[in-house]
Amino acid sequence: MKAIISDIHSNLEALQAVLKDIEKYPVTDIYCLGDVVGYGPNPRECVDLVMKCKIVLLGNHDQGALFDPDGFNPSAERAIFWTRDQLESSNETRPLREKRWEFLAERPRTFREDGFLFVHGSARNPLNEYVFPEDIYNQRKMERIFALVERYCFQGHTHVPGIFIEQVPDDLYQFSSPEEIEYVHRLDGRKTLCNVGSVGQPRDGDWRACYVLLDNDTIRYRRVEYDIDTTIRKIYAVPELENFLGDRLRDGR
Ligand code: ZN
Repeated sequence: MKAIISDIHSNLEALQAVLKDIEKYPVTDIYCLGDVVGYGPNPRECVDLVMKCKIVLLGNHDQGALFDPDGFNPSAERAIFWTRDQLESSNETRPLREKRWEFLAERPRTFREDGFLFVHGSARNPLNEYVFPEDIYNQRKMERIFALVERYCFQGHTHVPGIFIEQVPDDLYQFSSPEEIEYVHRLDGRKTLCNVGSVGQPRDGDWRACYVLLDNDTIRYRRVEYDIDTTIRKIYAVPELENFLGDRLRDGR
């Protein structure tokens, strides 16, 4: 069994709760689809924890912290500069800082294994493209993305969990939220995109951390409660992280 997590966004309490939840299952490998940092108050601790994952992909916020952030809104950009500062200037030893920095810098953008593709954004633009539920009505976009997927693709980035399926031959696309499928989906050979949701900043109206378990052909969504008050308190305490970044966690938006 594998666990697939994404979009942790420096939310240590959410990540710890998810890792504890994963321990309840016979999970052999954890795959992380990127955005380990950005928005939240604990970038260093989150990078240290994901180092034990089998695969960690580069997310757009990770890239923003490493290089010049481009295309972010002002509050996200401010959080990214603060994150970079945290990674560069801690009281810890230089080798530890460099280890984290190198780890982030070496992240791949895609990973393929046994017909499964793993990306942060989309198969077409692994780092930056959003695939939202409403995109099922954008035939051209979906056709192009699905054409690049051999069979199954796991992705994150939107923080909105759910399953996209290509209906052949009528070329219609279907999206189902985790609730609509009662948190379980069986892969059946049809091309499928699975958005695994976000550990540290869900935006589907459910504040609980989200991730998926993959057991052969069965995807199971998990929602995990965590100590959200502690995370919000930490965000409020950092001037560079705007308070609304804490408030939005409570609303899951
Ligand atoms: Zn993200």
